[in-house]
Amino acid sequence: MEEEKTRDYVSEIKRMKTAKNAIILAHYYQTEDIQDIADFVGDSLALSQKAASNDAEIILFAGVKFMAETAKILAPEKKVLIPDLNTGCSLADSCKPEDFKRFIRENPGRTVVSYVNTTVEIKALSDIICTSSNAVQIVNSLPEGEKILFAPDRNLGNYVMKKTGRDIKVWNGTCHVHEEFSLEAILKLKEENPGSKIIVHPECELPVRMVADFIGSTAGLLQFTKQDSGSCYIIATEAGIIHQMKKENPDKKYIPAPPKDSTCGCSECNFMKLITLEKIYKCLKSEKPEILIERKLLADAQKPIKRMMEISKNLVVNP
Ligand code: SF4
Repeated sequence: MEEEKTRDYVSEIKRMKTAKNAIILAHYYQTEDIQDIADFVGDSLALSQKAASNDAEIILFAGVKFMAETAKILAPEKKVLIPDLNTGCSLADSCKPEDFKRFIRENPGRTVVSYVNTTVEIKALSDIICTSSNAVQIVNSLPEGEKILFAPDRNLGNYVMKKTGRDIKVWNGTCHVHEEFSLEAILKLKEENPGSKIIVHPECELPVRMVADFIGSTAGLLQFTKQDSGSCYIIATEAGIIHQMKKENPDKKYIPAPPKDSTCGCSECNFMKLITLEKIYKCLKSEKPEILIERKLLADAQKPIKRMMEISKNLVVNP
C-alpha cells in the first residue's frame, strides 16, 4: 500500500514536472527517494549555479528555506516553490538581522563575508557571499590586508582564518548537525576499521577537524571518495550524502560519524528531512508555498551573491 502510494507520487511528480515546465533541485542532505526524483542534486554552490542557469519556469527546491531564497534571488523571474516553509536552519537562524547590524556597526571598516547559510536579510547586509566549497578562495580573492567579518558559522570561519592567515572576526553560530559529532566515537570507529579515512566538513568543531584525513565541503567529500584509492570512510557531515557516495562507488564502505548523544539521530538535519515526496507532490500541484521576496531586499541580496558567482567562475574550486 505504502509502496503503491510512493509509486503514484513519483509518476505524478514526473508528469507535472513536464506539464508545468518545472525542475526539482535537491540538496545532498535530502532523503534518497527525493534525490532520485530530482533533476539536479548538489551542494549550495552547485544548486545556486543551476538555479541561475536553467530553462524551467518553475523551480521546486527540495532543501531548506535559505537555499530556496537563494534560488529566487538568482532567478527572480521564475516561480520558486518550497514544499515546507518550516525548513529553517539552526545556523541561519543563529544570525538575526538586528544583532548582525550591531556586529557590523561594532566592527567598522571590515568586509562582510557571509556564508550562503544565511537568511535573505543577512545576505542583503553582506559584501560578498561564500559557500563551504569556495570560502577559502573567496577570502583569498580579497586584497591582501583587507580585514574581514565572517558569519555565521564559527567553525567554518576559524577554518578559513587558519587556511588564509587573514584578519577575520567570526560570528558565533553553529550548525546543530556538524557541531554534534563525537570525537571519541569517531576515533573508536577508526580503530575498529583499520585503513579507514576520516573525512570531515569544515563546519565541524576543531577537535574533529584535527583528526581528519581530508576536510572539504559536501561536494568535496563526495569528490574525494570518488577519486581516493581507499575503501572505507568515516563521514563527518550530514548522512544524506552517503547515498551519492554509494551510487558512485557501491563497493566502498561508508560509515556516518556518530553524534555525541547516541540516542538522537543528530547526524541528520531535521530541517532537511521535513521535505517528503508527498509534500513535493502537493506543492507542485498547488504551486504553493511560493518564495516571495520584496524587490529592494532581493536586489540588495543579489549583489553579494553575484559577486561570489563572478569570482567562482574563474576559480578552480578546491573542495
Ligand atoms: S545541516 Fe546544519 S547548516 Fe545545513 S541546513 Fe541543516 S542545520 Fe542548516
